[in-house]
Amino acid sequence: MKIRTIITGMAGRMGRQVASALAHESDIQLVGGVDLKMQNITFGTGEAECRFKVTTDLPALMAKTHPNVLVDFTHPASVMDNVRIALENGVRCVVGTTGLSAVHFDEIRSLCQTNKIGAVVAPNFAIGAVLLMKFAEIASRHFASAEIIEMHHDKKVDAPSGTALKTAEFMRHSHPTAREEIAVSLESQPARGEEVGVTRIHSVRLPGLVAHHEVIFGRPGETLTIRHDSLSRESFLPGVVIAVREVMKLDHAVFGLDVLLDI
Ligand code: NAD
Repeated sequence: MKIRTIITGMAGRMGRQVASALAHESDIQLVGGVDLKMQNITFGTGEAECRFKVTTDLPALMAKTHPNVLVDFTHPASVMDNVRIALENGVRCVVGTTGLSAVHFDEIRSLCQTNKIGAVVAPNFAIGAVLLMKFAEIASRHFASAEIIEMHHDKKVDAPSGTALKTAEFMRHSHPTAREEIAVSLESQPARGEEVGVTRIHSVRLPGLVAHHEVIFGRPGETLTIRHDSLSRESFLPGVVIAVREVMKLDHAVFGLDVLLDI
């Protein structure tokens, strides 16, 4: 039995690439796509080539195609509507859209519990980015101070990035006490970034960038820099494919690809 999958945000930068990647997987069948921009889209090459008429009506598409999994790469303002419709109708979710809050995470957890199905929510599906978060967690045990710089393309709508927030969360768990020794009031210096947990995050948005994260640790006499660069959106695709397969085995919500990879 193939995993019947639909994509919300199919006409977007990520949606198109995810569609193409899924079209090449023999155990996954892409059965439809939703986007606010209604379009005909062709994905894949050779025998895997398939053509889709992207629709704007998610409930109608679900009724017609009976999907097992919905993959969402849309917008922070849209994602929860899609996830609610899917989970309440017994369709598992793989959520790549970022900008969700703790309240949204709680709601997804509860919807999965009520409907006894799985969801995977990950701010970054690149394997290297997952490793960066874990390395930062380890380094955080040994360094009293750190700051995160995240750099993305200029079309990204949320800041700080979900990956930077998740990295800060990992760092707070491994070293939960506030550690910055700064003499002046930070409120008077917005250039010092946003305080999240025990670290500060600086967000850069420029054309030409894709997704880049740098965690700089400092202690007397030394610094440690951990950096990950997504040079193209191809970096996210293997993680999405893993999540589509793994979400079929889950009866609860999982937050982060690290849980599935056992990193
Ligand atoms: P994009 O703007 O290129 O694409 C988003 C698409 O979603 C658009 O085509 C838009 O029309 C569509 N859309 C918006 N609301 C919709 C709705 N209600 N129903 C259906 N379609 C809708 O954006 P993008 O660069 O593809 O990024 C999408 C999201 O994915 C962002 O939140 C981004 O931060 C995130 N992202 C996550 C990862 C990851 O690894 N988790 C990687 C890259 C991007």
